[in-house]
Amino acid sequence: MEQKEKTKYFGDYHTHTRYSDGVSTVKQNIDAAVAKGLKELAFTDHGFNNPSYGALSRQSFKNQRAEIQNYAEGKDIKIYHGIEADIIGLDGTIDLEADELGDMEVLVVGYHSFAKAKSFFDWRKIYVSAFLSFLAKPGRSVIERNTKALINAVKRYPIDILAHINHLFKVDCYEVAKACADYGTYIELNAKHMNSQDELEQILKSGVKLIADSDAHHYAKIADFSIVEKALTGKGVDLSALENYEKTPGFPRRKQRIKE
Ligand SMILES: [Zn+2]
Ligand SMILES: [Zn+2]
Repeated sequence: MEQKEKTKYFGDYHTHTRYSDGVSTVKQNIDAAVAKGLKELAFTDHGFNNPSYGALSRQSFKNQRAEIQNYAEGKDIKIYHGIEADIIGLDGTIDLEADELGDMEVLVVGYHSFAKAKSFFDWRKIYVSAFLSFLAKPGRSVIERNTKALINAVKRYPIDILAHINHLFKVDCYEVAKACADYGTYIELNAKHMNSQDELEQILKSGVKLIADSDAHHYAKIADFSIVEKALTGKGVDLSALENYEKTPGFPRRKQRIKE
């Protein structure tokens, strides 16, 4: 008899497969999620402008959906098929067309190195600045630009989850989280790229709703939130602050994506 402890989390809403840079299959991710006791799982491979991550193409996105539907049939878990889209413009543009938004059952958005920007100017201002931020502490103007682009994206698109903020692309965590609080987008506490205690403090101060995600690139990492839990308890914050801990988060912004 299997005696493994079941997770107290309702779902994991940011995971990868071989359709982008993950190493596991759709089948392995679903089996792992069911075995851990998750009630919901989202597939969010990398978006269309992100070739460095072996990203999804529009065709492979469709293939993935068919594979998910086929395998999930009859399983005791709800599956969301979405994407981890990229910021490709200073104005907050992401790498999805307006008529594709409704196809996303979960929409996760984040900054990623080497994504294809919408213009040379945007590439230089976002991606070159991010690269230089590795070498030297970024100036205020860089942080302000990155912050503004994320806030623009949250305002322009019904984004469910903003992924790993301040990872590589430096932003004002409080300002970004505040915009998410205002618009109903969750800030993700990412087990792969967990925020520092200082960043976490800024995020918490905003009053934004939080969600824990594994960002698993291997099925074994699905629903492994120990790093997130450690950071929160270190701040004296109860795990019930996570919208997917012992409850379903629901995705209020999803309604805005689906056309009548
Ligand atoms: Zn990411
Ligand atoms: Zn990811």
